[in-house]
Amino acid sequence: MSAVILDGKVLAGKIKQQLKEEVTKLKETTGDVPHLVNVMIGNDSSSCAYANSQKKVAETIGIDYRLKSLSEDISQEELIHSIESLNRDGKVNGIMIHKPVPRQINYRTVANRVDVRKDLEGINVANIGKMLLGETHLIPCTPAAVMEHIRSTKEDLKGKEVVIVGHSEIVGKPLSLLLLNELATVTICHLGTSQVGKLAGHVKRADILIVAVGQAGLIKGDWIKSGAIVIDVGINKTGTTIQGDVEFEPAQKKAGFITPVPGGVGPVTVTMLMKNGIEAFKLQLEGKVR
Ligand code: NAP
Repeated sequence: MSAVILDGKVLAGKIKQQLKEEVTKLKETTGDVPHLVNVMIGNDSSSCAYANSQKKVAETIGIDYRLKSLSEDISQEELIHSIESLNRDGKVNGIMIHKPVPRQINYRTVANRVDVRKDLEGINVANIGKMLLGETHLIPCTPAAVMEHIRSTKEDLKGKEVVIVGHSEIVGKPLSLLLLNELATVTICHLGTSQVGKLAGHVKRADILIVAVGQAGLIKGDWIKSGAIVIDVGINKTGTTIQGDVEFEPAQKKAGFITPVPGGVGPVTVTMLMKNGIEAFKLQLEGKVR
């Protein structure tokens, strides 16, 4: 048996087409399109490349996206002032703060100052709290991309054994809430699980396995349950290659579906940012969130 590859570029292409149609309709009915701003501090070359890829995706969909570049030595107060000015700007629908940020900036403090209705990455504490209540308007982009991959398999999540490896605030924890909202049975593993030697045992019973750790080959191929859906979020640069957290070839022989790295979750993540941009625009039109 060889797993079906969940091709992120193909899935992202389908979603982009749907979003493009939605933006066209919004333009017809409101005369406007979403306007998004990426606040970038300094000019780190990999951040600039990532911002360029976001800009291209936005252009494909018909969304207005611009970069607001700020000096590397900006103070936290000045940055907050800048964010608050974007919050007040009626022409701005979505704001994201590009990471990494310099040492003098506390990312969590600053992220919480983004208007809850303009929070493109869904990382403001208010939006995270809303997920706990099952309200999913603006949700973190990587968990949203994982959910799109799972949905693309048409698997019914109800009662399924889902195992998430990694419990970071941007991937594992929000994902667990999204899956609970779908009535999956969710187990979250982390360093503690590994340290007491229980990781393999949990992984082996997963109908759906999601791994977001950042350690190449942490999950062995022979741990994968036959026919499982395997979503590998990990990105590990080893020399000139990029690998996931799952041993791909042996896992592919046992899984029913598997995401490749690169080309699995990543391409869909950027598209989810644009989906949030459209959602933010609609929320502001309807005045749903205050
Ligand atoms: P992170 O904040 O460093 O979190 C890593 C998680 O892995 C932590 O919860 C940690 O648990 C857990 N962990 C560490 N060692 C472990 C072990 N031996 N066994 C089990 N769990 C272990 O990382 P992140 O930001 O969530 O990112 C995770 C990976 O996903 C990275 O490779 C990152 O590059 C990638 N990523 C990809 C995308 C995408 O769009 N494709 C987006 C975001 C991140 P403790 O906290 O208990 O130590």
